[in-house]
Amino acid sequence: MSDIQRRSPPAHEPRYGGALRALREGNLQRILVAIRNDGGLSQAEVARRTALSPATVSNLVAELKRRGLVRRGERRSDGRTGLEVVIGRASNVVLGVDFGHRHVRVGVAGLNGKLLADEQRLLPLDLGVTESCAEAWAMAERLLAAAGARAADVLHVGVGLPGPIDPVSGRVGWGAILQRWEGLEARSTLREAFGLPVSVENDGNLGALGELHHGAGRGCTDFVYLNLATGVGAGLIIDGRLHRGAAGTAAEIGHITIDPQGPLCRCGNRGCLETMIGSRGILDTLSPSYGQVLDMPAVLRLAEGGDARCRRALAEAGRAVGVVVADLCNLLSPQRIVVAGDLARAGELVLSPLRAMVAERAVPAAARAAEIVPSPLGDRSEMLGAIQLAVDALRGQLTDALVTPTASGR
Ligand SMILES: [Zn+2]
Repeated sequence: MSDIQRRSPPAHEPRYGGALRALREGNLQRILVAIRNDGGLSQAEVARRTALSPATVSNLVAELKRRGLVRRGERRSDGRTGLEVVIGRASNVVLGVDFGHRHVRVGVAGLNGKLLADEQRLLPLDLGVTESCAEAWAMAERLLAAAGARAADVLHVGVGLPGPIDPVSGRVGWGAILQRWEGLEARSTLREAFGLPVSVENDGNLGALGELHHGAGRGCTDFVYLNLATGVGAGLIIDGRLHRGAAGTAAEIGHITIDPQGPLCRCGNRGCLETMIGSRGILDTLSPSYGQVLDMPAVLRLAEGGDARCRRALAEAGRAVGVVVADLCNLLSPQRIVVAGDLARAGELVLSPLRAMVAERAVPAAARAAEIVPSPLGDRSEMLGAIQLAVDALRGQLTDALVTPTASGR
């Protein structure tokens, strides 16, 4: 605020008193936050959300446009044109990077979060951190070229890692599925590797964010994202916001105990959900009876072809997930459970027994309220969440830009 108070008003601005100017800045900020939170609003909608009069909104939106912070966005389905916040130049982009157990997916997007290009590559198991970052950056350079952008156009990188991220220290916590990352201060490591501002988040949380903005979570205030693959990733959206919990470990659903006497889990406990339905668990159970090492695509192919053992293994996995989802329904009463990952690719072979188990075990009203659906984003929800993380980080900076109007994009 001190910058504003010191700043003498330019000749074309009315000479408000200090209190009036503070009120005006406060209202500008309210409008900017409303547009930032729900991009694509019309001026009438902004007026409703901020409880400001249409005339005031019209006046202040003109001011935000003049400062280069807001512009007319794309035409909406109702034919009207919504407003969107502006950061930087039209050529600026963000990157989303999603590191998985054996893959990395990279995406390039405009500052409105719209995906321009993306690519996924397999990585050798247990590849070092430096090598993994180098591979991701090489992919980013190719994608930037494909999107007609340059490295200098990138303003921020959102990164997903398959492990809990401590909200205070930023360290990758215990239980990361990529052991080489465990204990690392991820943000500074990645900032150094990419030479750019970076935000880091657990990949399950990013999946939930991706679904919230682009997938099956749109229009929902409460839903659970589940990624059923080598590990079990998950993210919780509660009351429209990502729920990380005190230690950043909320939604570590893979380590909920299903059978206290069950197989030993990598976390040191027995009978965690992950030991039963993680693809390693399924493959270890099935492979001996086929006399060969199976992979998940082979199991899905065999199951689709009618193989009874593979179909049974997938159905059992669906039921085990259903036990946990029933408890989640009782605990949170979500509107949706969005299922992604290897097991989502099995479709109804997994989802039907999952739904049946939830119907059988959850409080009836909670079970009826929770729609269990496959992710419409395929493998992209976590990468799209990483892009959203970058966009949100920039929009947070925008709010700061308001108090120093001269810093706005021109
Ligand atoms: Zn465990």
